[in-house]
Amino acid sequence: MADQTSDLTASDLTRRTAAELADALAAGETTSVELTTAHLERIAVVDAAVHSFLHVDAEGALAAAEESDARRARGEAASRLDGVPIAVKDVLTTKGMPTTCGSKILEGWVPPYDATVVQRLRAAGLPMLGKTNMDEFAMGSSTEHSAYGPTRNPWDLDRIPGGSGGGSAAAVSAFEAPLALGTDTGGSIRQPAAVTGSVGVKPTYGGVSRYGLVAMANSLDQVGPVTRTVLDAALLHELIGGHDPLDSTSIDQPMGDLVAAAQQGAAGDVRGLRVGVVKELTGEGYQAGVQERFDEAVAVLVEAGAEVVEVSCPNFVHALAAYYLIMPSEASSNLARFDAMRYGIRVLPDGVDAPSAEEVMRATRDAGFGDEVKRRIILGTYALSSGYYDAYYGRAQQIRTLISQDFAAAFTQADVLVSPTAPTTAFKLGEKLDDPVAMYLNDLATIPANLAGVPGISVPSGLADGLPAGFQVLAPALADDRVYRVGAAVEAALTDRWGGPLLGQAPALPTTEVAR
Ligand code: GLN
Repeated sequence: MADQTSDLTASDLTRRTAAELADALAAGETTSVELTTAHLERIAVVDAAVHSFLHVDAEGALAAAEESDARRARGEAASRLDGVPIAVKDVLTTKGMPTTCGSKILEGWVPPYDATVVQRLRAAGLPMLGKTNMDEFAMGSSTEHSAYGPTRNPWDLDRIPGGSGGGSAAAVSAFEAPLALGTDTGGSIRQPAAVTGSVGVKPTYGGVSRYGLVAMANSLDQVGPVTRTVLDAALLHELIGGHDPLDSTSIDQPMGDLVAAAQQGAAGDVRGLRVGVVKELTGEGYQAGVQERFDEAVAVLVEAGAEVVEVSCPNFVHALAAYYLIMPSEASSNLARFDAMRYGIRVLPDGVDAPSAEEVMRATRDAGFGDEVKRRIILGTYALSSGYYDAYYGRAQQIRTLISQDFAAAFTQADVLVSPTAPTTAFKLGEKLDDPVAMYLNDLATIPANLAGVPGISVPSGLADGLPAGFQVLAPALADDRVYRVGAAVEAALTDRWGGPLLGQAPALPTTEVAR
């Protein structure tokens, strides 16, 4: 057989999906130690080029893997994914493991507690490989705003992997991890998935606990899966989701059977589903190839028996503007806690003998925060100031309501809404770094879902000019199962057409020799 995977380490364990690895573990064909080691070796040889990880915890991951193997040997697997390793975005707190949020201000901080989702991963037996790179405090669409250097797109190392969760998407698409967790405030799971050829899900707001997620914008943030297949995302989502009394916005309701929905979709069953193409999220502003891949994916759903309707959501054109007032407003308040007194670094001002608390705070925030974070704190503070509150924050909240109403109206005509996930494929590193608005435009299609709290998935739609494009499916709140069903149907049909997973076409990565 032709070896497309010449950049891989000894075993092909890193090429398998999480579901396949879980089956292999259950059948006793591999051990968690073996496959955790395979992924750690893969990280060791490719991460110098890709830089998905800010922190790798080989020792912790292997210890967890040993425990998992012991459990399996006793016939006491803690979950179906027990023993399958995972990477975690560095915005989620991990007890005993550094958590920086991609910021200098948290350099060296080791949280004393686990985020609820992390605690659920541990309880389910998933070894944590490490923490993934991200734009500082999740602000960005390229991972270039990380204080620790950018992550690179495994498809083309001169290009961005999306953001803010570029590290998680790159880890999964570079076969460094079969599974990862991301967070999505305006698209940070879905857009990186789109531009790296992976799968990303933003759950219904409140469907997955935010306890231990370092907040950027509380009313928008959601934790979700980043994977290579829709089924893997469903397995991970079921594991991390569900009610958490530690998060006051957590919803205490069943989420539907996500794995069953993914399997139903994979079997091609979308008959009778009404798929709404959102007029405002196609056409102008979308790269020609991205639009073509989108149209083909819609055609695939029609062939499988879905009914396509065009829907209009007129207020979506204001989503970006509303988001860039609401998000910075919440962020300006959240980031006030980084005051040099409680977490992270403390910088003393130069040439001041006995600096006041305020002077220490100022010097620390000046040195600890990057430009994009400062820009948003200033914007948010301005929008919330008494003279401007009604004109900016208040107006943005009104638009947010109108966007929710647009969704509600569209969901009377369609069971799911679809669009390209991102307007373009991955751009070059540096290309948009000096133009914040150009950077913000990447989230055109993903932001409405955050403003309304509805779930969304991005699945690969194919290559446009040689780079991955994404297909987005949105559903009403609590109907997360629908995004899995439709996402899996698109995935199954297109994978057939491509003759295998899209990521199989990604070029080999340069490898670094490591001593063994
Ligand atoms: N790119 C968007 C922003 O910069 C979304 C980020 C996110 O979802 N965390 O705000």
